[in-house]
Amino acid sequence: MKVLVVGGGLTGGMISYFLRGVKQFKITCWEKSRGLGGRAATKRSNKISGCQADTGLQYLTRYEKSARHDNLYDFLSGKGLISKLDVKDISHMKSGSEKMQHYKAVNGSNTIAKTLWEESNAEVMKLQKLKSLDYSEDGVVAENEKGEKEKFDLVLLTIPVPQIIRDISFTPPIEKNAREQLEKVKFSSRFALVYFFGDNYDIDSRVAGSYAANKDDPIVYWHIDEAKRFGMDTEKNFRTIMFHFKKGLYCDLTPAEALPKLQEHVAQSFPKLPTPAEAVPHRWLFSQVDEKFPGSEGYLSLNDQIIICGDSFGTRGNFDGCAESASQTADHILSLLPKEAEISTEKDK
Ligand SMILES: Cc1cc2nc3c(=O)[nH]c(=O)nc-3n(C[C@H](O)[C@H](O)[C@H](O)COP(=O)(O)OP(=O)(O)OC[C@H]3O[C@@H](n4cnc5c(N)ncnc54)[C@H](O)[C@@H]3O)c2cc1C
Repeated sequence: MKVLVVGGGLTGGMISYFLRGVKQFKITCWEKSRGLGGRAATKRSNKISGCQADTGLQYLTRYEKSARHDNLYDFLSGKGLISKLDVKDISHMKSGSEKMQHYKAVNGSNTIAKTLWEESNAEVMKLQKLKSLDYSEDGVVAENEKGEKEKFDLVLLTIPVPQIIRDISFTPPIEKNAREQLEKVKFSSRFALVYFFGDNYDIDSRVAGSYAANKDDPIVYWHIDEAKRFGMDTEKNFRTIMFHFKKGLYCDLTPAEALPKLQEHVAQSFPKLPTPAEAVPHRWLFSQVDEKFPGSEGYLSLNDQIIICGDSFGTRGNFDGCAESASQTADHILSLLPKEAEISTEKDK
């Protein structure tokens, strides 16, 4: 079965990872950008070597306990990609509990998706933006922005639902009921801003980061990337700060237009900060899930050939929500295999 996964973020990576080695599936990923990770994004400095910052996902907060969750966390910990976070380093962060533990991505959050995709052995095609899906009993013809077409047996859309509605045309169109349900899914928008400082500049701070104490603050969260990843007592220099701004703030402006306004807020909140060598704004138009898909079972099957899934289909719009949606989607896809077919994996050989 030829399967197209649209989106090279966490949900797509997890589904491919969960289905790795199932010989009946040949998985291809189309990712519109140059890199994998999606909203688990890591920005690397163009000017200062070795400086990077997570601009989207900050922490993995483990709530769910299922065999697939355990497997995922064990795999990522075993590879050294995630480690437990000491919440005392982050002001105003809710501490963990028996049921809820926080992890950080040691080498940057995009390494999580990258590694899941690598492990899955799927064919990953970057700079492939899906434009349209034309489906019939015969299969689904996917067309990219360049007008190139390829036929698949099954297509999984893992991109934020409002982006699907905005960017992808379906022939025949999505049935009215399903479309109305999809239109209920809402995402927030927000700006991230990264400051990269020159070599050997120590940022004077006693914490690795902080959530805002006041809900009206324009900066809702900030962190020193090196301190978050390696701990406050690391010998590494602190050279990178990332700020997240309030939902919607300046999101009607382009990143270039918003930059001076964002910098003004930083100057007011952190008057002692010197001028950075590089200031990089990033506008997340589809940032986090505000309203998830109503009554979700982890995915929506538009028909036997097109499935929509992702963090708006999980209990929570975060890493664990992706894992939940990916796990339920993987189970569903396995159930599509002919009943008499034994599920054979590469490992059976
Ligand atoms: C600012 C911010 C902070 C966050 N903080 C946290 C946190 O601390 N903890 C947490 O667990 N979660 C957090 N999240 C949420 C977390 O990042 C997401 O839940 C998760 O990354 C979603 O993964 P996904 O694969 O479902 O979607 P995405 O990451 O959105 O992946 C979709 C992919 O599809 C690609 N794509 C889009 N359109 C097309 C197209 N037409 N054709 C081909 N490819 C396309 C995109 O480029 C993207 O790579 C945060 C998110 C943001 C933005």
